[in-house]
Amino acid sequence: MGEFEAIGDAVTGGMLASAVEPSHGRADDGHTHETNCLNCGAPLTGTYCANCGQKAHVHRSLRGFMGDFLAGVLNFEGKFWRTLPMLAWCPGDLTRRYIAGERARFISPIALYLFSVFLMFAVLNFTGALGSDSHPPIHVGFEQAAVEQKAEIARLEKKRARDLAAGKKVDNLDVKIAKDKEDLASIEKLRQGKLPVEADVGDETPKWIRGAVEKVQKNPELFVTNMQDAASKYSWLLIPLSLPFMWLLFPFSRKYRLYDHTVFVTYSLSFMMMLVILAGALVEFNMTAVAAFLFFAPPIHMYRQLKQAYQLGRFSAIVRTIFLTTFAFIAGGLFFAVVAALGAA
Ligand SMILES: [Zn+2]
Repeated sequence: MGEFEAIGDAVTGGMLASAVEPSHGRADDGHTHETNCLNCGAPLTGTYCANCGQKAHVHRSLRGFMGDFLAGVLNFEGKFWRTLPMLAWCPGDLTRRYIAGERARFISPIALYLFSVFLMFAVLNFTGALGSDSHPPIHVGFEQAAVEQKAEIARLEKKRARDLAAGKKVDNLDVKIAKDKEDLASIEKLRQGKLPVEADVGDETPKWIRGAVEKVQKNPELFVTNMQDAASKYSWLLIPLSLPFMWLLFPFSRKYRLYDHTVFVTYSLSFMMMLVILAGALVEFNMTAVAAFLFFAPPIHMYRQLKQAYQLGRFSAIVRTIFLTTFAFIAGGLFFAVVAALGAA
């Protein structure tokens, strides 16, 4: 994220320049000619400060400002296009090389993670996969269900009349019709945002859970919105939640440190989010069948990343992939539980 800091510095630098400037008898090109670092004051020996890393000469011109901006963007872009294909095709190499020290070459796992979270929620909101300010979906769902239920009841009643005329028994149909009418009543209640609370939450249930359930039933849309907010705000939780499971894959190993697992998990989760983004885009363009194939991508990706990153043989990589997919469901479930609790709170 150093790029953003650079842009931030450029902004403050520019503002300072316009505030202090006019009577500074320097060259018009806006160059500064320093012998000491402008940022930390250390004596300069090269093109960069040996102490803090800032460029020796900074520009106090709009051109310099745009230059900083472009350099920041291009630097990010360059790294991005170097990191992304590797994340997709050789995630383990990326992980291993990053751990081994090739840090400046790639986008750091956490930057990529935050970028993916941001992009995922932006895309999902845009495609309407999450109905944040488009509340209708839930209502429309219940309405559709009510219409279908009514049609089904009408069909059964017609059949009942026919059977009755033909002298057949209609006991079974009566039971079915009664059940369908009951369901219709529930759907109608849901549609109006009311649900018989006593139906699913008993008196023995702790008060706080009952309160939360009642709240959700009163306003399911608000719950969805709150869950979404919580999911984006606490998305980082997935990383620490996954770490114990990563450790379990290599228990008591001295070869791998917690840092290595953190890099692994963070890159892996970033990829999974990119996958969600891709799936969302495919569904949006009515390529649902293609999107369904992405379902197989996570275990394959995990296998490849495990095998390359930890230099495993095929067999031990497969075994660990099976464990890791199981762990992923558990970690995902834990995360979902936390987010749901936060959404209902
Ligand atoms: Zn410095």
